[in-house]
Amino acid sequence: MLSIEIFTFNPFSENTYVVSDETTEAVIIDPGCYTREEQQELSSYVNDNHLKIKYLLNTHGHIDHVLGNDFVKDKYKVPLLIHKIDEATLRAVKTYAPLYGFDAYRGAEPDRFIGEEDRIEFGNTSWKIFFLPGHAPGHIGFYDEKEKIIFSGDVLFAQSIGRTDLPGGNFETLINSIHKKLFILPDEVVVYPGHGPATTIGGEKISNPFCALSLLK
Ligand SMILES: [Zn+2]
Ligand SMILES: [Zn+2]
Repeated sequence: MLSIEIFTFNPFSENTYVVSDETTEAVIIDPGCYTREEQQELSSYVNDNHLKIKYLLNTHGHIDHVLGNDFVKDKYKVPLLIHKIDEATLRAVKTYAPLYGFDAYRGAEPDRFIGEEDRIEFGNTSWKIFFLPGHAPGHIGFYDEKEKIIFSGDVLFAQSIGRTDLPGGNFETLINSIHKKLFILPDEVVVYPGHGPATTIGGEKISNPFCALSLLK
């Protein structure tokens, strides 16, 4: 059984997830914490629940998802895992962070590159990795087949989809990722996105204004 804690951090209202199972081993997905208060909020949760963080995972390298990479890596001494194709996206953050007012941003080095051939293992939990390009070129998602949940970053939102106007973005590629990788999952699978509330595959298949199956000609 997984425990999923959702924090909404930074001015982009980004969802940071701390996911643990009954063993208390845990992963942190897309830490967007930037201020001391946000860092405190995250670490208090980890501390209060006696979690043992095993990995720091990035779905992709955009600024709102990686502001807290350095804090998490430093605090928990865990490896940062990201897809190789998004390494450049991650490294670019340093160059534009000050333009957004994040003068204190310090990048964190990726430790390992992961893709669909790998799995994320912690405690009794084992996740599949989905390659979901379109919003960012090396975007990935983490799928728990047993619990029927997916952490899919900025690909599919409740009633919306990820933007495709940023460097490396492509609308056709994004729609393709959604249809070929996400919409083939069972309808009851719960989607935990990078922004906004959780949703389900079935719900978005029917009513998402950008990619519902009924829009297919
Ligand atoms: Zn993004
Ligand atoms: Zn985002």
